[in-house]
Formats: sequence, structure tokens, C-alpha cells
Amino acid sequence: MDLVRNTPEAVLKDVFGYDAFRSAQGEIIDGLIAGKDAVVIMPTGAGKSLCYQIPALIRPGVCIVISPLIALMDDQVAAARSFGMRATALNSAQEFDSTIAAENALESGALDLLFVAPERANLPSFHELISRCDVALIAIDEAHCVSQWGHDFRPDYRQLGPLLDMLRGVPRVALTATADSRTQIDIAEQLGIAQDRLFVSGFDRPNITYQVGLKNNPMQQLRRFLAAQEDGAAGIVYCQTRNRVDEVAKALATDGHTALPYHAGLEPEIRARNQSRFLREDGIIMVATVAFGMGINKPDVRFVAHLDLPKTIEAYYQETGRAGRDDLPATAWMVYGGSDVAQARRFILQSDADETQKKLELSRLNALISYCETADCRLEPLLSYFGERYKGPCTACDNCLSPPEQIDITVDMQKLLSAAIRTGEVYGFHYLVDVLRGQAGEKAVRFGHDQLKLYGIGAKEPKSYWLSVANVALAKKYLVENDKGFGGLKLTPAGWDAIKGAIPLTMRKERLEAGSKKKLRKAAVGDLPLDAQALFTSLKAWRLGEAKAQDVPAFVIFGDATLKAIAVHKPQSEAELLEISGVGAKKIERYGTQLLSEIKSA
Ligand code: ADP
Ligand code: ZN
Repeated sequence: MDLVRNTPEAVLKDVFGYDAFRSAQGEIIDGLIAGKDAVVIMPTGAGKSLCYQIPALIRPGVCIVISPLIALMDDQVAAARSFGMRATALNSAQEFDSTIAAENALESGALDLLFVAPERANLPSFHELISRCDVALIAIDEAHCVSQWGHDFRPDYRQLGPLLDMLRGVPRVALTATADSRTQIDIAEQLGIAQDRLFVSGFDRPNITYQVGLKNNPMQQLRRFLAAQEDGAAGIVYCQTRNRVDEVAKALATDGHTALPYHAGLEPEIRARNQSRFLREDGIIMVATVAFGMGINKPDVRFVAHLDLPKTIEAYYQETGRAGRDDLPATAWMVYGGSDVAQARRFILQSDADETQKKLELSRLNALISYCETADCRLEPLLSYFGERYKGPCTACDNCLSPPEQIDITVDMQKLLSAAIRTGEVYGFHYLVDVLRGQAGEKAVRFGHDQLKLYGIGAKEPKSYWLSVANVALAKKYLVENDKGFGGLKLTPAGWDAIKGAIPLTMRKERLEAGSKKKLRKAAVGDLPLDAQALFTSLKAWRLGEAKAQDVPAFVIFGDATLKAIAVHKPQSEAELLEISGVGAKKIERYGTQLLSEIKSA
């Protein structure tokens, strides 16, 4: 690209149409241009790509981007090209012709970005090709794949050594959204990047509102939640099992939603088709297992709903983080139940993992439960999990937006703990709850538990209430597994303190209608001034046509935020259009006339 002014700020404005860098972007980019490496840990959607795209445009030569997801390379290339960058990909899924074309472009110095799969990048023939080119920068995307501590280790990533050696002196940047501190350090070590070039930032997602509620009738709760969404809002509903995915997708389709299933049990073609429709069309609800979403980059996902408990806070953050990447308001909604928690606990205990591993997983589960059960701000536990401190004040979680009613559970906790003691500290909490509710049936008769004074004293409260109390007991470690290994619970010293009444305890009152009592922030055409709504709708229709014609996802044309800004400000000239965030030179050249005529005819 010919750049008239080539400071990072100027490129940000001229090429990408943005006014300011986000979080650590500016510092990372300045460093790379000056030849300093970086490890970039930012959540998905925070803007990692710009960290290598801008240096690629400013430094002479091509930027090589190592990327493991061949399926997504085409979209990465399309997105970069939409900004006028000269980008292409080299991978094994390609036709011979495109490979030759890519290699020619590379050799003639006609590329800003070359995406390449790691197995390709490690071939001697690739090294040979590169040795004849000017390389500006090497970017290692999804860099957690290089670490055995990461969740997605790929041996191909470990073999990047020779390529990196060849490119000694070329600045390198490793990027990922998922790496705990141990993995972060390992990435730096594996790729030969100094530890003081580690940048962790951007985990706070202020446009996402978090809502968590107890599960009672999940389908009904989901329907109420969906009814509160804007028409045509795209979203993801996560369920734990394939069967559940199929059921929920069917039910939503019957309700009149465009809902598609996605899980590993579907034919690959169906999966691919559903995913591509989700990316390219407006208003699709994807009902999926966690198999869906890795690497998905759709900026206008308005909600992510969990019908079951996610695996860990990290998984939850990753999954909910797929909402609102366009910075417009979005919602992360979840309902969870006591039996989810029990099941998760059982899975861990019955797995083949060794004791240390089990302990680690149980403590992760407890962190997640505390997040769910908290009556305080949800952002604090969420961000501190990643080592970022929450600065607040919060306007983005249900607890802060409408503080939950607290109920005193001091006495009921004592009842639960007594039930554990009276039955010999050998039972799991389902049985204890059944005893308290007088529902333990024959088993209770057989062991004489039906004769206990506390048998049935908790019958007035629903089972879900008692399971919540039990979850508090587990999260606070009043009860822990006994040594027998069958999930039986025994009291800890803290449990004995609680039973003596030394610890006044409250719990969040069950929210039967998670999030629907009070209307929270949401993205809506309705949020736009009346006179902008029609224009926004017609701009979206125009964009859909363009996206279809070019066979690219809609966001590659323009993001929702940009279309909304256009609808509100109604720019009357190309110069005025350029003032809109997300409109750069290339987009003006390509769409300027069309946009102005859409605006005129509105
Ligand atoms: P990541 O790679 O971290 O998942 P991307 O690089 O795809 O995220 O960026 C997500 C979206 O945010 C893209 O549409 C991108 O153009 C936009 N973006 C990135 N940096 C900025 C910025 N400084 N200002 C406004 N938008 C930005
Ligand atoms: Zn909060």
C-alpha cells in the first residue's frame, strides 16, 4: 500500500478509520516498528490483529502470520483486504494455482501479509522461499498452541525454531486470547521473546452485561430472555450435550427463530453450512455445544446464553467473550442449577486424573461457583481470574444494576451441616437435601434416617433452594469430600464454626427470572433516534447484498457500530464519511458513492 503519512496513528486513521488505539495497542505497535518483540495477551475482539497489521504496513517487507486455523484463513485474508491490505494465504487446502499466485506475489514483494499454517511454515521449501524475501515481521497467532501448559498444544508450533532462527533480527509478535500466567511465560520462552515484552490487557469488556440466574424451567427462562432481545439479534446458546442442542434448536425454530444446531455429532457439511450462515446472515441463533466458536470472529453477536454451567471461568469468559466484539451493548446470560454443579463435581471426582489434578479442577469449579453465587459485583472475580484488577464502577452486571435481595441462611446452613453429621458424614449433598426435605424414601428407612429429628424439617423450601445452600457450603469449604472417595461429605473446622452459629450467612435470593425483571442495557435499533432507524435498516440490507455478492461475512464490509454511526450522523460527503469510526480510505473508494446514495434516498 502507498501510505502518504506513515505514523501508526495516521495509518490507524487512514487505513482502518479508527481514532485511537485501544489498551496496549499503541505501545506494542511502536515497539514492533522499532524492532522489539512482544507477547500480546488480549481477549478475543480486543484488537490483536492491528498489533501486527499496522507494523506490517509501516515496516518494509511482508509480515508472515502463522495461523493454525486453515478454515478461518480466508476470512482473515478477506478482512485484511477489505482495508486495502495486500494479503493472501498459503495452506494445504488450496488449489495449486492459488499457491503459485501467492508465491509469486510474495517473491515480487507485492504482499503486506502472508497467512500460513504452521505445518506449511515448517517445510524446507517455505524456508527457501522466504530466504529470497524481505520480511517485515513475524506474527504467531493463537500462540498458546506453542505451550504444553496451554489448552491446545500443537507439535507443529514447537517446530517453528528453524524458521525463527532464519529470521533472527526480524521482530516477532506472539498473540493469544487464552493463556494463564504460566502459559504466558512459557510462550515467551518457547519463542525466544524477553519476559519484559509481555503485554496483558483489555480483559474488561465494558459493553457486555453479565446476568446469572438459577435454573428452574430453563426453556421458559430462555424464551423470556430471547423475547427481551431486539428482533434480528444474532446470538449463541450453549448447551452441554448434543441431544440438548438438537432439542433446543428445534424448540426455538418452532417459536419462529432462525435457530441452527452445531455440535460434533453433525455431518461436517451441515456444521460448515450452519457456521457459515451464522457468520454471513443477520439474526441467526446458533444453538451449540462448546465445540462451536473457536476462532469465530463475528463482531455483532448480541448475546451468548448458557443453559448449562460452563467448565471453568476461563471457558466462560472465552465463550461469553464472543458477544459484542463490535463494542455495542451485548449480554452474557446464564442459568445454572444445583444439579449442574453436582454433575461437574462428579465428573471431576470420577475422572482418571491424579489427585493433584483433581484438586486443581475442583478449585477451578469452586471459583466458578463463587462467581455464580456472588451477591456482589461479578466483574471483580471475573477479571481477577486473569490477573487484571477491576477498576469500576460497574454498570455491567446484574448484581450492580439491581442489587439482589439477600436472605439469611445462617440457621438453614446449620440444619444442612447437622444432617451431614447425623447421617455419619458419608453422604453426598443430594441425599442430605432429600433427608432435610423428607424425601429420602426407602434408603432413609433402611438406615433409620427417617427417625432423625431433622428428617423433613426443610420440606417447606424447594429442592433448588437447599441445593443452593449446599453449594454455598461447598464453595465456603464447610463441607469437603471425605477420604472414602464416593463423594461423601464431611465437616471441616470452618464447618464446625458455622454449625455453632459463629458465622452469620446470607445468600442471594433465587432469581426466578434471570435478567428479565429489569430491562438491562441492550443493543437495539430502538436505541437509535427515530429518524436514524430506517436508515440503519436500509444500510444493513445494502450490506447484506454486498456481503452475499462478494461471498464474505457482513462485518468485512462494515461493522454494525459503523453503520449505526452513519445512520445517526448522515454524512453528506466523502470527507464527512471519513470522520465515521470504521471508515478508512479503501472503504471510501469502494463504497463511498453507494453509501452517500443510501443516505440521500433515506
Ligand atoms: P482479536 O484479533 O483480538 O480477536 P481483532 O483484531 O479482530 O480482534 O479486532 C476486533 C475488532 O475491533 C475489529 O473489527 C477491529 O477492526 C476493531 N478494532 C481493533 N482495534 C481498534 C481500535 N483501536 N479502535 C476501534 N476498533 C478497533
Ligand atoms: Zn458489577
